[in-house]
This record gives sequence, C-alpha cells and structure tokens, in this order.
Amino acid sequence: MKKLLLLLAAAASLPLLAEARPATPPPVRNVIYLIGDGMGLAQVSGAMATARAPLHLERATAIGLIRTSSASHYVTDSAAAGTALSSGYKTTNGFVGMRPDKSAAPTLLELAQKAGKATGVIATCSVTHATPGAFLAHQESRKLQEEIAEDITRSGVDLLVGGGRKYFETRKDGRDLSATLRSGGTTVAYTLAELLEAPATGKVVALLAEEHLPPVAQGRDAMLETAVANALQRLSASPNGFFLMVEGSQIDWGGHKQDAAYTISETLDFDRSVRLAMDFADKHPGTLVVVTADHETGGMALVKGDLSKHEVEAAFPTKSHTGIMVPVYAYGTGAAAFSGVYENTDIFHRIVRLYLPGEGKTAATSVP
Ligand code: MG
Ligand code: ZN
Repeated sequence: MKKLLLLLAAAASLPLLAEARPATPPPVRNVIYLIGDGMGLAQVSGAMATARAPLHLERATAIGLIRTSSASHYVTDSAAAGTALSSGYKTTNGFVGMRPDKSAAPTLLELAQKAGKATGVIATCSVTHATPGAFLAHQESRKLQEEIAEDITRSGVDLLVGGGRKYFETRKDGRDLSATLRSGGTTVAYTLAELLEAPATGKVVALLAEEHLPPVAQGRDAMLETAVANALQRLSASPNGFFLMVEGSQIDWGGHKQDAAYTISETLDFDRSVRLAMDFADKHPGTLVVVTADHETGGMALVKGDLSKHEVEAAFPTKSHTGIMVPVYAYGTGAAAFSGVYENTDIFHRIVRLYLPGEGKTAATSVP
C-alpha cells in the first residue's frame, strides 16, 4: 500500500516537474508543414497513376487520416480548415486564424516565432488567401484580403513567397504596405530571381504576381520548388530551428473546375516540394515533415485508367469541397506520432507536443 501511494505521488508530481524545467530539449527543432489544398486520396492516386516513378509522398513512414469538418459545417472551407491546421481550433467557415468567438487563435507560426524560431510561408496563390492567411492573420472573413495583408505586414514572418502584390500596393486605403515592409528592413522581391538574390540574412517578402501565380502547366514552372529550396537554405541558418508552411494551393482549383489534368499536374508539382522537405529531413535530424490537405475538392473519383499509358479518367460529382477524410503523411523526427484516425485540429497538438512542448499548454488551455 505504501509503495502504491509513493508511486501515485511520483506520477502526480511528474507533470509539475516537466513544466518547471524541461529535462531534455524537444526532439523536433524544425517543422516543414506541407498542405495540398483539396488533396484527397483520389488526387494523390491520380498523380500516382500518371507519374513515371513513385511519388515522394510514398516515402512517408507514418500515415494518418483526418476528419475535416469545421465548427459550423460538415463540409469545411479552406479558411476554417486552414485555421484548424494552423491553430488547433475548429472554427466557423470563412474565419481566418480566428476562433468561433472571434478571438485570435495563436498559430503554429506565431508560437514558433515566440520560441525564437525562423518562420516561412510559401503558396502558389496570393499570400492573403485563406490557407496562408490562416498561419499569418486573424480576420473574420477570408474576403478581407487587404486586412489580411496588413496582418501579414505586422507578422514579422521571415520569409513569405506567393502572389497578392495588389493587396499590398494597390489598396482602397491608398497605403503601400510594401513600402512599410521595406522601411522595417524587409526586402520586397517581385521575381524569383530577386528572391534568390535577396540578402541571405534578413526578412524577405516575395510577391510574385498581382494576385495568384499561374497554374504549373501554364507557366509557373518550378516556382514552388525553387522557393522551397531557397526557404530551406535561408531558414536553416536560424540557430533555433524553423517553421515552414508550404501550400500546393491550386490542387483545389483543379477540383473546383472538375479538371483532372489541372488537379494532377498541381499534385505532382506539390510532390516535388515534398521531396525537398524529405531530403532536408534526411540530412538534418530533428526535422519533422507533415504533409496533409485541408479538405477534398470535387469528390474526385478515378473511374478508368491505363497504367501502361500513365492515364486516368476522373469523374467529379460536385464543384465544391467534400467531407471525406484526407490523408496525413509524416516523415522525419517524430513522424510516428501522426498515424491514426483523428481530427484536423490534432495535427496542431501533435506537432506542438514534439516541437514546442511549453507552448502547447498555453494554446490548449486558452479555450474561451
Ligand atoms: Mg488554399
Ligand atoms: Zn476550394
């Protein structure tokens, strides 16, 4: 009996001790979070069928499935789904980095920044769009893109690459947020070449299009891979590690357009960035790579195919998102924690436990 009580006492004191002084540093120092917008299993399977080699996603050592419903709808939009993935909070469709009560939800990027890590966001759409916005901004509507640009300008993000120049420079209020960024010491780039030439230290915001980048099949070429390679080079110079979010933004748009070729070419493009992330993790122990989607788009079904010709034929019952679960692929340090069937919000909590154990408590207990 005495022994049992002692054991109980020891067990009870463990969390207190852990909180007072973490015995060992967290196992993960770098997180690369890749989000394929609208990338369900059919989108991945279609890419696999048309590819000449295995996808890099297939290197994942742990696979999970997440439920994607939002706080307001069975079928989520990208703003609520992005917020679930960035902050661990289910919210109302349309909300960006905001809880249902309209309070700001602290995001992984912000928590990483607070922990002294370098941060980056890369998208193939406007940087003010729902998914990147969910990591950088707190607004009650995804449509408030000029307000999201203001939040971004204040965010202190170290590297930001995507489109959306007009939300910074051709605004209703007449302000030039790029000038604001420059006066704060950030390099503002407008081309990939300018991004590559920007000083190796210091913040960079690359606004590569007025709004969105073109589809990869229509001239975007290797923009995403180039930006990701450059980001890994820049952010890995940080002494405390980094957080990088990469979005394959247009997989979703292929689904909305019911265009299988668009969806698949964007998924393959995204997978080339997954490769860079996984290769980086191979060379830098302490790096966790998590690849997932915010939701599925189009209810894509692969109804016919010819593997010898690398061809598939798809059908789409809807032009909208669907409520089907989407996959999670994890690789690198801590990957094993991502297998199972769970909520989209739990990706956040699993990352925090491995990466920012002190912050997890704050985020999890600050529910209003
Ligand atoms: Mg998106
Ligand atoms: Zn969509």
